[in-house]
Amino acid sequence: MNLILLGAPGSGKGTLSEFLCEKNGFTQLSTGDLFRENISNKTQLGLEAQKYMNEGNLVPDSVTNSMVENYLKEKAQDLIFDGFPRTDDQALALDNMLEKLNDQIDKVIYLDIDESVLLGRLTGRLICKVCKRSYHKVNRKPLNEGVCDFDGGELFTRPDDQEDKIKTRLEAYHSQTAPLIKFYNDKILKVEAGNCTPEELYNRVVEVMGA
Ligand code: ADP
Repeated sequence: MNLILLGAPGSGKGTLSEFLCEKNGFTQLSTGDLFRENISNKTQLGLEAQKYMNEGNLVPDSVTNSMVENYLKEKAQDLIFDGFPRTDDQALALDNMLEKLNDQIDKVIYLDIDESVLLGRLTGRLICKVCKRSYHKVNRKPLNEGVCDFDGGELFTRPDDQEDKIKTRLEAYHSQTAPLIKFYNDKILKVEAGNCTPEELYNRVVEVMGA
């Protein structure tokens, strides 16, 4: 079964992916993480993507789609698409890629959240350099400051988790990504993602998926 997680930046897609991978055997395909990996490895793709990401803009569809197509050559089952697709063009491309592999998207989990919560979540977010797990300076502190509970990796703040960049990312979400809720109409499972802990969100998702 392949899932898409659809939701604004800060809605909890990454943390929910962690739970679904650990407890339900999915593999996370996060285009944001793949781009960041390419940036730290200083690949050509990373250099190209960095220009857009640092400003909070979307990376062009052609670049993003071919990165995903390459990934799917290795694995195309039991995936969680986290942060992809983000535009109509990407959604159509993904359908084509999966069709060629005799596969499909089964469910799209839409994380619905009040926008007022997002800014606080993103400006306080800390990410582990090693495993990419996320923490929060106030709401989800690591046991030891600055290091990941899981693997001791150093925690960092993403360059695009600054207020002006967050605003641009939210605009991109509203204008380009939110219309996908209609595109996936028959596959959408809407889950309220505000006012809850990551565990509660996971439980809500499992409940709607089983329903
Ligand atoms: P968030 O969901 O918090 O915005 P991501 O790690 O998913 O975080 O994305 C960070 C940035 O990476 C985006 O703002 C964008 O620049 C780039 N990016 C990630 N996924 C895509 C995508 N599918 N299409 C275009 N750009 C993307």
